[in-house]
Amino acid sequence: MPIAMHEVQLDIVVQLRKPHACGGNAWRVVRLGADIGVRCEQCQHRILMPRSDFERRVTVILARPSLNPGSVPQNQDV
Ligand SMILES: [Zn+2]
Repeated sequence: MPIAMHEVQLDIVVQLRKPHACGGNAWRVVRLGADIGVRCEQCQHRILMPRSDFERRVTVILARPSLNPGSVPQNQDV
């Protein structure tokens, strides 16, 4: 698995395996839940996908929010 679910937080920016139709490949996480909501950083299009799809499609975390880096849980399986 390229990404651990405990790393998935609001406002991280991830790259997905397939670029969006607009050509962008950076997606910001805007909703957490049973489905993960992501927004294309290039065209602002929003999509929802099940967590299992999200885990499969993320290749790398491009950016994490720099606020409160110490608050990231290190050993928590969500
Ligand atoms: Zn797009």
